[in-house]
Amino acid sequence: MAIIGIDLGTTNSLATIYKDDRVQLIRNTLGKALTPSVVGIDDEGNVIVGDVAKERLVTHPDLTAAEFKRTMGTDREYSLGDKKFSSQQLSSIVLRKIVADAKEFLGEEIEEAVISVPAYFNDKMRIATKQAAELAGIKCERLINEPSAAALAYLHEHEWKDGTYMVVDFGGGTLDVSIIDSFDSVMEIIAVAGNNQLGGKDFNEAIYKHFCATNNLSEAALTSEERAIIYRMAETTKIALSTNPMAVMSVVLNDQKYSIALDNNELIKISHDVFEKIYEPIRKVLKDSRLRPGDLEAIVLVGGSCKMPTVISYIEKVTGIKPCTDIDPDTAIGFGAGIYSGIKSKNAKLKEVVMTDICPFSLGTSMFDMKTDEHIMSFIIERNSMLPCSNIRDYYAIKNNQTSVTFDIFQGESIIPENNIKLGSITIKCPSTKKNDFIASARLTYDINGILIVDITNADKETTTRMLLDNNVRLSPKDMERIKAKLDQLRFNEEKDEEEEHLISRAERIIEEALSYEREMLIIALRDFKATMKYGNTVEKRKVKEQFSEFLDRNEFE
Ligand code: ADP
Ligand code: MG
Repeated sequence: MAIIGIDLGTTNSLATIYKDDRVQLIRNTLGKALTPSVVGIDDEGNVIVGDVAKERLVTHPDLTAAEFKRTMGTDREYSLGDKKFSSQQLSSIVLRKIVADAKEFLGEEIEEAVISVPAYFNDKMRIATKQAAELAGIKCERLINEPSAAALAYLHEHEWKDGTYMVVDFGGGTLDVSIIDSFDSVMEIIAVAGNNQLGGKDFNEAIYKHFCATNNLSEAALTSEERAIIYRMAETTKIALSTNPMAVMSVVLNDQKYSIALDNNELIKISHDVFEKIYEPIRKVLKDSRLRPGDLEAIVLVGGSCKMPTVISYIEKVTGIKPCTDIDPDTAIGFGAGIYSGIKSKNAKLKEVVMTDICPFSLGTSMFDMKTDEHIMSFIIERNSMLPCSNIRDYYAIKNNQTSVTFDIFQGESIIPENNIKLGSITIKCPSTKKNDFIASARLTYDINGILIVDITNADKETTTRMLLDNNVRLSPKDMERIKAKLDQLRFNEEKDEEEEHLISRAERIIEEALSYEREMLIIALRDFKATMKYGNTVEKRKVKEQFSEFLDRNEFE
């Protein structure tokens, strides 16, 4: 029985394990480390996950869902054909695939996973993630903040060198910046800041818009498939600009070719607002930790978007420090989660390592302010408090003969409660009191996973009402059973050859993007391929898969 680490990303997910005294990547059934966090339904109604599904984002956008992590813990529903899923259910489908692949790769049962989440994930999102694991049939006791995982990976590679570090994690849909202090193998998170609506996606969108504007394409007039084709090419162009000074983006729509040429200067121009938003959390995290960039031992870059030279030089420009790029931005968080799974399974080699975590936002209750006659925030736990933490505050009656009191619990930094995120509400009865008399105390306790417990004790100090604040988000065992049964009913194409499926969906996507004569050639090749896969023997199949894959490479990247 193994414990694995999982980076459940917006864009890509990956799994690792701490084994033979080192952290190791787990490869999926296609032999790749990264599995796209994409779920779809194939032509026969089977659920597909990962690369196979990602290819179909273009050809079957209405049967494919991506980037659902952005709406984790919300009511948003995704329709795949006639089926509806929450992000939690989609995430559980991704986890199920990751775990099944890990089981196959390792040749042993997976008992438990340590899963990373963005530091800025709120209570609801964290609970939803843990329950997604449960729905996938895997135990998840411990969530780890992604920047903490990244720091763990970095320090593991750098002999736990003492110092204060900044970790910038810029992924597909989130940006997290954090300050971590490491002393004598004890890591402490000093501060975190971030933006959970900023990522590589925003560069894709900027390029997409620029492409449409330059070619006089009206976005409203495009079909969802056409939009998906342009979007995909926008991302390909962005990635090309990470290694080339210039890139040409061309798209064929209705047999007409549209194109633009782009270089990194132009990219900076068309996405200047994205760059500006990168600075804000960097500034905030330094201010919160009362540090100047000069105090940092290193700036560690992780996340796919940190592979962009424009992003690296922007960070260098605003901090005056050359960021360190010697750990792989794609796998750092997964590695950190894997190292943590090693700590959790009490690996002797990691026994010196201690990791502390913090609460990334302030928590408190809304309070009636008798001075101003309006509701304001009363903060009980300050942001960046070390976990686990607990704090108590007393509250007073606002009128004579008050017999009940309501606590609305919020997370966030604004003095105006409504500007923060409401986590729940609790009303208690209390002995009748006079105005200004002590009426109740509220204790907030934040556990090691960043999950909140509220205890309200009334004036007679005898009754305490406890609420797990996720009550309204946490599914009841009955609901869990119902959803699990629904997910178990889905047909997964597990008995199918995934490599074959991937080649077919990839070919179909390239066919959609191709010009007419190329298209004809691709169609013939695809039909031949399918015929061999149907009627050929094992040796022929293996050979034709290799050949077809090379053929697609040539057609895609020529
Ligand atoms: P997440 O943590 O959100 O799953 P990742 O850290 O895997 O995301 O980053 C995914 C993002 O990184 C995507 O927006 C992708 O386009 C971008 N990306 C990946 N590789 C590169 C590259 N070589 N150059 C620029 N952007 C890249
Ligand atoms: Mg990530």
